[in-house]
Amino acid sequence: MTGELAASLVDYFSRLERLAACGKTLCAGRVIESGYEGARDEHRAGAWLAGKTGESVGRARRALETARKMQQLPDVEAAYRKGELSSDQVAEIADAAGQAPSAQRALLEVARSATLGGLRREADRVRAAARSATDADEREERVRKNRSLRSFTDADGALRIELSLTPGDGRRTLDAIEAEAKLVFDEARTAGRAEPYRAHLADSFVRLVTGAGADSGRGPRRYSTLLRVDLAALRRGGLEPGEVCEIPGAGPVSLRQARQLMGDTFLKLVIADGVDVRTVCHPGRTVAAVIDTALEERDPECVVPGCTNTFLLERDHWQVAYGDDGPTCLDNLARICHRHHLDKTHRGYRLEGGPGKWRWVAPQVPTNRPDEVLSG
Ligand SMILES: [Zn+2]
Repeated sequence: MTGELAASLVDYFSRLERLAACGKTLCAGRVIESGYEGARDEHRAGAWLAGKTGESVGRARRALETARKMQQLPDVEAAYRKGELSSDQVAEIADAAGQAPSAQRALLEVARSATLGGLRREADRVRAAARSATDADEREERVRKNRSLRSFTDADGALRIELSLTPGDGRRTLDAIEAEAKLVFDEARTAGRAEPYRAHLADSFVRLVTGAGADSGRGPRRYSTLLRVDLAALRRGGLEPGEVCEIPGAGPVSLRQARQLMGDTFLKLVIADGVDVRTVCHPGRTVAAVIDTALEERDPECVVPGCTNTFLLERDHWQVAYGDDGPTCLDNLARICHRHHLDKTHRGYRLEGGPGKWRWVAPQVPTNRPDEVLSG
């Protein structure tokens, strides 16, 4: 079998899998609805379906929940029946659209063009906008009250630390660790050590918490956290459908928490409705802070489809190269990971499409790849 044929068969079987999952989910929903013996209450229904399919009870319950919600979501059901959605995608859309049915078409559109991670972020936004301000405050207060740090030793003898934080504190902590990780990465590269990103993050965490980072002579790395909010919502003091208040990489937060974060000097604010950043261009390679912030917010992960890398993202002049007088403005910039940047610079790969519809185009004739520091 040729690689090309195998690839088209993967497409074919994926669609078949999605259609089969749709048929299974909708029929299972009908079983519950009919009052079928053995699947009467919610608890037994999950166990019954798990027994049939060999999946976990949790997954089975989620499928039944999706089937139930879909009764109110005709557009989602139609797309699911056509084999356009995977089980993960449909569960995400049904859950969010179940709280805001008017959002179903927009979510389907996102599912067509974005990764599952991108769809989750959009679904989080829809859910956040559907919550009342009181609900959002109560939810955040619950998270804050339950904040915790616990540790245990696992079977391999590693000490594991588990942290539960508010989105604001959590994102700030990660931003600080990631900023330090850039130093750790540079040191590893200089020393010729190729280690995975998660190892650099672990070293950074230890250095920051124990204060060892400051001993390097350069002091801890500066970092900042993004907050994206609609100006109108901020003025009004409440979110309306379609408006956002979120920390990219952590999810939606209440306006109350947003105001608290605004007192923080490390905060970079993206006003969703403010200056149109698309019109701001900078003549040189230096990226104006406003463009940089908008870019960070627009491309939270490497834009190459299927790549979810968030580490050491590089600004790429994707339409017109900087060397060919490409402008340093938002429309000509995209964030891609180190590995894809090497592929694009040295191996003839091209980035096409634009935000929301990126395509990664392989070169016609493969060229040799230079030695890479980053591996795995
Ligand atoms: Zn990438």
